[in-house]
Amino acid sequence: MDPYRLPTHVLPTRYDLRLEPDLASSRFAGAVTIAIKVLQPTSEIVLNAAELEISEAILAREEDSQSARIALEETTERCRLAFDRPIPKGTYSLRLVFQGTLNDKLRGFYRSKYKDAAGQEHWLAATQFEATDARRAFPCWDEPAFKAVFASTLLIDAALTAVSNTGVLADYAEGNKKVVRFADSIPMSTYLVAFVVGELEATEPVYVGRTPVRVWSVPGKRQLAAFGQQIAAFSLKMYEDYYGVPYPSDKLDLLAIPDFAAGAMENLGAITFRETALLVDEKTATHAELERVADVVAHENAHMWFGDLVTMSWWNGLWLNEAFATVLEMVAVDAWKPEWQRWTTFGVSRAAALVVDGLQSTRPIEYPVAAPRDADAMFDVLTYEKGASVLRMLEQHIGPEVFREGIRQYLRKHAYGNTETADLWSALGAAAAQSVAEMMDGWVFQPGYPLASARVEKEGRLSVTQQPFAYLPRTKETAAPQRWQVPIQIRIHSKGSTTTQRLLLNDAEATLDLPEGFECAVLNEAGHGFYRVHYAPELLERLLKLLPNGLAAIERFNLVNDSWAAVLAGLMPLTEYLELTTRFKMERDKNVWAVLIGSFAALNRVIDASDRPAFERLIRDRLQAAFAAVGTPRPGENELTKQLRGELARGLGMLGNDEAVQRQAAAWYAEQTQAPAAADPDLTAAAVAILAHAGDRSRYDEFLGRFRAATTPQDEQRYLHALTAFRVPELLAETLPRTLNGEFRTQDVPHVIRSLLHSVHGREIAWGFVKQRWDELARAVPATGLKRLCEGVIGLATPELERDVRDFFRTRNIQLGGKLVEQYLEQLHIVVQMREREGEALRAYLSVT
Ligand SMILES: [Zn+2]
Repeated sequence: MDPYRLPTHVLPTRYDLRLEPDLASSRFAGAVTIAIKVLQPTSEIVLNAAELEISEAILAREEDSQSARIALEETTERCRLAFDRPIPKGTYSLRLVFQGTLNDKLRGFYRSKYKDAAGQEHWLAATQFEATDARRAFPCWDEPAFKAVFASTLLIDAALTAVSNTGVLADYAEGNKKVVRFADSIPMSTYLVAFVVGELEATEPVYVGRTPVRVWSVPGKRQLAAFGQQIAAFSLKMYEDYYGVPYPSDKLDLLAIPDFAAGAMENLGAITFRETALLVDEKTATHAELERVADVVAHENAHMWFGDLVTMSWWNGLWLNEAFATVLEMVAVDAWKPEWQRWTTFGVSRAAALVVDGLQSTRPIEYPVAAPRDADAMFDVLTYEKGASVLRMLEQHIGPEVFREGIRQYLRKHAYGNTETADLWSALGAAAAQSVAEMMDGWVFQPGYPLASARVEKEGRLSVTQQPFAYLPRTKETAAPQRWQVPIQIRIHSKGSTTTQRLLLNDAEATLDLPEGFECAVLNEAGHGFYRVHYAPELLERLLKLLPNGLAAIERFNLVNDSWAAVLAGLMPLTEYLELTTRFKMERDKNVWAVLIGSFAALNRVIDASDRPAFERLIRDRLQAAFAAVGTPRPGENELTKQLRGELARGLGMLGNDEAVQRQAAAWYAEQTQAPAAADPDLTAAAVAILAHAGDRSRYDEFLGRFRAATTPQDEQRYLHALTAFRVPELLAETLPRTLNGEFRTQDVPHVIRSLLHSVHGREIAWGFVKQRWDELARAVPATGLKRLCEGVIGLATPELERDVRDFFRTRNIQLGGKLVEQYLEQLHIVVQMREREGEALRAYLSVT
């Protein structure tokens, strides 16, 4: 018997739930009447509860009722109700009365604190239940397959507002309190239930068909809601068309919560967000900040169908929710703002998945999940970004219309129900009239991905082989032969023409005949494939002749990205890569620059301090021409150009330590201070980071003041992160204790420490702080945040620090769920190995550059 799974002989069908949160005392009282079906005679009912005091449990049918003996099991988070008289098959109502604490751990039913414009502190209460924390708010069958109708009532202070999944049926005074009664929900999983209680303000609704769409925030922030509301309305309409199924609830509220552990949560009809993911001032935000809001809102909306209407049966299928919502987020944002070229930028997400999935310590997208802790470990780049990448690869392979038709069939067939991965394959397979499972199971149920190697054979044929990609030599255990069905799209350039060929590479090798006048071949044309490409030197030379315009931006991105991975894996000498980067001096795509600058930042963390001036010269050599070509902002220019200008400025001013750019940054910043409305947000953001890098004590104090006085979530983050970008150790040492003295929100602390661990100037101080204050950090930071914080150790890229990190994780027995610790340690090991392997050659290269 699985100790974590509930028995299935008793099923809930409806919860009539009443909660009374008291913000002042941070307690809540509750009562729930659950309609249940008993399928087999029993004398015991088992459901989930954690951190609740249950005072009463009564089972009733018509006139007959009996009380239960209540036993709470802490380790399995279950509540066992034992009855003296056996319970025959039939339908019953089970009434439970309970109390709990509004915690400050950002999970279950919790409190969030914020200050108003006058500096006065206020509280609100919010919920975050996914994956397994509904049981901290009320006793329930807290597994996704136990879907039921929820009818909720909140008893709150008369001055407050309450929002839940459905519309308000009734709202009336009871003593000095207010009763808010909500409409019945559709049958749904417990992890999607939500309540928010506080002094909340809403926008006017925008209607999509009959559905009102509103954005909620704490008072004084309503003017930051317009942008999020626009993408919410647009994507809701687009999804109704795409899915061919109407929005499955009666209203859609989007709520910005001052303290929020994740990015957002897709509670049906009451989506909750971290403020930066929903509220934004369109006029002063950078492109990246706007894109984040659009992405997250579109992602959560996509879940209203994929996840909420149709839900995975158990957490092993989480990827069904998340991968699909990530793909649809792209489809929606791409349709909303085609000029953002969202699918090209998706290359950055795909690249992040390729990094983790190239580790020995990776895992398959889907794997068995037993304990709740394992479910939490699934919220990672493999579930979201690898999952989305392989779905996108499939969509391109069978065609977008066929794919959409399969999705429509899947949603219609399984509405209000639960599914397994095989259900999705069968719907897509029916639409595509081919076996989708045969191709996709290899991508979902086995870890890793292939490296496709291409070379020209003598007799005018192109050979493509596959082997698993790995950064480190594969151990015996992981060296089992692995194959994928790889849909490979190849563009052949020959004299005067180009042709596209598609092949499904099943075996170790496939060959293609090359045409007369063959010039070169581009594997992974259009970049949808989830694999890396290695070209034989002669083919690579031919390919580089196509630069800059013969390759699409995503193809150039993949070329650089795969080459950098090859350096880390020891398949390409570092100096060869650095030579390759000289071919991109006139590159104009911001994603290609992101991977180039990212690789330079990684190198900056492994070089010796004495080599830094030479390395800074190399950075300036690679970036200056492009920065000059982008020039100064022009009216009406593309947003991506603005972003590129900011990124190049940042790269030059920080990694390149370019004094001219640092002076320019001071001028941009001064302009922004004098005339904020006229300033270019991407330049302002770059200027803040650059000035911190070059800055002293007075700049630090100024930015700290700006952080405290910020009026938008984006400004707050910008100045907060600037406090990690200084080079002066004493200033960085001042930032660290602020993570634990209440000056920074616990939701932001992991990001601050992670940035410092990635900074060559701050990493040793930050690592010392983490080691010394670990217990306090582990208590203060929400569990999801601790994972992010620990990711920072990848920046500690010296052999001495690596040893110290390994010792610390081992002696303190630090567990983050899943294989996260192993993944971080392996990534650290890969860069340290690269340093050992390439250090001499790099020093020699820099000395002649
Ligand atoms: Zn999601």
